[in-house]
Amino acid sequence: MLHRALFRPIRLLLPVLLVCGAPLLQAREVATPAEHVEADGPYVFREGTRLRAQWICRDKVTTRTVRAGRTGTRLAPRCGDGQRVHVLPPATPAIAVLPAVPRIVALSDIHGQYDLLVRLLRAHHVIDARNRWALGADTLVVAGDVFDRGPQVTEAFWLLYGLQEQAGAAGGAVHFVLGNHETMVLYDDLRYVNPKYLRSAQLLGRSYPQLYAADSVIGQWLRTRPVLLRIGDTLFLHGGIAPEALPLALDPAATNAAYQASLGLPKATVKNDPATAPLYDGRTSPIWYRGYFDGRLDTAQVQALLQHLQLERIVVGHTSMPHVSAFHGDRIIAIDSSIKNGENGELLFIENGQLSRGLLDGSRVPLAEGVTGLDD
Ligand code: ZN
Repeated sequence: MLHRALFRPIRLLLPVLLVCGAPLLQAREVATPAEHVEADGPYVFREGTRLRAQWICRDKVTTRTVRAGRTGTRLAPRCGDGQRVHVLPPATPAIAVLPAVPRIVALSDIHGQYDLLVRLLRAHHVIDARNRWALGADTLVVAGDVFDRGPQVTEAFWLLYGLQEQAGAAGGAVHFVLGNHETMVLYDDLRYVNPKYLRSAQLLGRSYPQLYAADSVIGQWLRTRPVLLRIGDTLFLHGGIAPEALPLALDPAATNAAYQASLGLPKATVKNDPATAPLYDGRTSPIWYRGYFDGRLDTAQVQALLQHLQLERIVVGHTSMPHVSAFHGDRIIAIDSSIKNGENGELLFIENGQLSRGLLDGSRVPLAEGVTGLDD
């Protein structure tokens, strides 16, 4: 349990550090910025009716300011094999509860592994060879944690952002559900940030969280994404619903709104305010929970929880597995297939209630039987 193991001593140290000053924690925990950034961006900020787009090309910042189009603005890449992006007007808050659809593809925990993400999505024709949406009227769910660890976070966000628009135009949908790493970066916990991005932030003259502030296009989009997403009888979320957190799952729209309102507030504020503390509790919150896998709940308890919520299944990321795996009699589906390692990854398919997994070679096989006791 890497996250928790790291978190526990920090929590114990916190009173000491608050006396000594938080910079001590930062100095010890956060990586040194990379020496060199070959290509990164765009980081796009809204300035009234204009957009300021910035790229980093071989350690040099390039800025372009354009008038924001009423229906969108296209920005061509400036260097590397960067993407052309289409910036839309500000996003509106996502809906928490949606009707059932015939076909859903899901994955999670990309953690900056954009190349692997693209290979996986192409292998199953979710996107075409030009990385355009190819799933028609079907649905893709990404259950959190694009930020941290890997070196292609920017690319992954823009891909998902663009696919969401393309899917909508095709009668399908892309849903991005927030993970704990989205909340961590936004509240300035940078312990897992790839050193490349600390250098990008230096060059751009903003802190890394400020590159995703409310005035940034992706930052604003993140502030409208859900934590809980129910599609038919399936609930998607990053960590899981703990019995202690049941009230949060009973009103998903209110829970999503509470998360969205708290994104970007300082870590100490969200953890100490009784109104937001349950959203950020490292043991029981929907973005951190691991109780389906660490022995805290048995199958009868899981079934009772799902029955209470009138759910057929809960699909979660966050706790890394070698494969997309079924736990507790197919009631809990774990979809963090360890993409973060940059070597392999899998998709979950839900087709008229039938579950299968998609492998990197494009083949489809039954879900793996879950093995409890594995952790991140
Ligand atoms: Zn996570």
